[in-house]
Amino acid sequence: MANKKRTALKTSDGVSDSKTINKATLSQLKSKRSKKLDTAKLIEGILNQNIIDLSRAITLVESTKSSHQKKANIILKACLPHANNSIRIGVTGVPGVGKSTFIEALGKHLTALGKRVAVLAVDPSSSLTKGSILGDKTRMEVLVKDKNAYIRPSASGETLGGVARKTRESIILCEAAGFDVILIETVGVGQSETAVHSMVDFFLLLKLAGAGDELQGIKRGIIEMADAIAINKADGDNQKAAKLAKVEFNRALHLYPPKPSGWTPKVELCSALEDKGVVSIWESISEYMELTKTNSYFETKRNEQNKYWLLQTIENQLKSDFFKNKTIKSALKEQLKLLEHNETTPFVAAEFILGLDKSI
Ligand code: GDP
Repeated sequence: MANKKRTALKTSDGVSDSKTINKATLSQLKSKRSKKLDTAKLIEGILNQNIIDLSRAITLVESTKSSHQKKANIILKACLPHANNSIRIGVTGVPGVGKSTFIEALGKHLTALGKRVAVLAVDPSSSLTKGSILGDKTRMEVLVKDKNAYIRPSASGETLGGVARKTRESIILCEAAGFDVILIETVGVGQSETAVHSMVDFFLLLKLAGAGDELQGIKRGIIEMADAIAINKADGDNQKAAKLAKVEFNRALHLYPPKPSGWTPKVELCSALEDKGVVSIWESISEYMELTKTNSYFETKRNEQNKYWLLQTIENQLKSDFFKNKTIKSALKEQLKLLEHNETTPFVAAEFILGLDKSI
């Protein structure tokens, strides 16, 4: 007992002549130092364009462990002043339309121009499908070996909000690591296009001709979001159908009101496989950038996107904290039962549960 007291006194006084204290203090100091060193080393590595450090930092961003998230936040804060200098391009389309092939062709063209290209993916389904996009890196065989390209397979995650947050933060890290063009791939089947649209400067929709969905099956919203529509696989026997699809899409685009960017969306033909039309799409993107930087829409849009993500993050966090709470969980279960037995209404039940939140 007496010994313990002495030890405690020594600790608070910072005197460390006891072996136990020495060990404990040393390991504490070490862990503090290693935390500092870790993040400082990663930040330095990212700014020096070290891909291994960039990957490690993205892994921290993607982690759900709170100690990793803390480190990730330190790194992100340090990287922010060095971010924002890239062109962010969203590439969407149904599975099989040729997104990977297109990104490989565009990526190769860009690295040949001396640009550094990062490819990220937003795929909320990846945890279920074990990574349906970018999961198989060999799909971009050439780009993956290019030292000026960085390909990061899709972040896995249970919610779109979570995956989108991770991707947005990864964009910042890639920009700090000096990438000039960030390509963000997403599958055009769900809500992920909206998430991607709100984190990119230019949104490219890949379509197929003759898939029977020129004007019916496609969601209005996606067309409205697109800054360009590329009809891919415009090669071989498919060329005639592709040209027809181009006319149809152009006609459809005319039905939409002018975009606040002042840009008129384009419909282009391309063959990612034969590397045809890809350069012309890049020229359109460059034209768009020039226009929106001149009319300051570029900056306005990025500001709006930041505000959107701030609110989105708060909303996600509040929701997740709320539904994780034990009292809320059991109350919700109870209220659902009452609802099933017609003993309450959805609104009364909701009011009751939300009222609990205030008293917690
Ligand atoms: P993703 O699922 O959208 O990423 O599509 P992929 O890039 O994996 O392509 C799906 C299939 O379409 C592959 O077999 C590609 O070789 C093929 N493909 C992609 N682009 C073209 C193209 O321009 N022309 C033709 N004929 N085939 C293509």
